[in-house]
Amino acid sequence: MIPYGRQDITDADVAAVVEALRSDFITQGERVPAFERRLCEYTGAAHGVTANSATSCLHIACLALGLGPGDTLWSPPVTFVASTNCALYCGAGVEFVDVDPLTANIDPDRLASRLDAAAAEGRLPRALVVVHMGGAPCDMARIAPLARRHGVAVIEDASHAVGARYADGGIVGGGQHADITIFSFHPVKIITTAEGGLALTNDAELAERMRLYRSHGITRDPARMRGESEGDWYYQQVALGFNYRMTELQAALGISQADRLDAYVTRRNELAARYDAALARMAVTPVTPLAGSRSARHLYIVLVPDSEGGQIRRRVFDAMRAAGIGVNVHYIPVHLQPYYSDLGFRAGDFPGAEHYYRRAISLPLYPGLDEASQDRVIDALGNALDAAGCHGAAA
Ligand SMILES: *Cc1c(COP(=O)(O)O)cnc(C)c1O
Repeated sequence: MIPYGRQDITDADVAAVVEALRSDFITQGERVPAFERRLCEYTGAAHGVTANSATSCLHIACLALGLGPGDTLWSPPVTFVASTNCALYCGAGVEFVDVDPLTANIDPDRLASRLDAAAAEGRLPRALVVVHMGGAPCDMARIAPLARRHGVAVIEDASHAVGARYADGGIVGGGQHADITIFSFHPVKIITTAEGGLALTNDAELAERMRLYRSHGITRDPARMRGESEGDWYYQQVALGFNYRMTELQAALGISQADRLDAYVTRRNELAARYDAALARMAVTPVTPLAGSRSARHLYIVLVPDSEGGQIRRRVFDAMRAAGIGVNVHYIPVHLQPYYSDLGFRAGDFPGAEHYYRRAISLPLYPGLDEASQDRVIDALGNALDAAGCHGAAA
């Protein structure tokens, strides 16, 4: 089976991890802060706070922004469930803003009207999560000023978009359009630490709070203590935090992988361009990045023709899996998950997301995908489309 995504691990990565394993500190040493600095330099962000997953980063980001009972977080419905679960962890509520069904990114027009309506009703969210689907940046030049005008904090879930650039050329994570940006280092993402995540911000106070929540709510900084420090051994727990720390082994892998970040994004874009050319005459619409932006190309998503109930997608998906192609679907809209329907969401609530979902298939894309394997994917897609009664292999 050709997988839809796969990590790339080199001898240098292995050597870096072994060296970390043999060092004095396998947690809380110098590699974690070095990895944080490395990605701050890459993105231009002032502060980086790693954690054991992007999910944990989303949680500490929400806590640092003060999300709690009575607050609401807004998110697009087309994302991984972690983008919104973070609000529920804090006792806050979730609302969704529909996506553009052709990009799967949050629809800025809809966001603008929803914000105006919420402002009129006094129900503005405390924070907005935007998701750069598949690594393609959202239209942040429009979205960020809308949020700012209404005093809504912006969290970018850039789990897919490590190494991406906005249409204005700025690098995702630099903080020009968001209060906090989250990266994921899960093995299928752009670079990996096995499990791991990073929260980037230009706000020193938010960074300090995220560090506090990452590590039990414990501080050794006398300036943050209640009363006096009792000596060098002394620490205080001043908030209810967690153990969300990344290990030195993970950071060593991350530092080594970061050397190849740009090469990975370049290779992913080359493979995506090959798909674009090969698929041009098939009955599929590739999800296309915003003009002028550079997608990190975490995912290559095609939209097959729509059909009531999504039967065409089902048939194409099944035929490709049967042909040994590890296609996938990103994502089942979060509001359709049973846990969220228990919160009151219903099928039909977000037609853009549901329309997108009936059509979407992610094709294999990762730096180690060779062109012969990619050609097998392309042939299998053509055959699967033909078999589903759509225009495919004749191309
Ligand atoms: C992968 C992913 C996450 C979660 O990342 P982890 O590091 O696995 O916790 C969150 N949001 C999106 C959009 C993702 O793709």
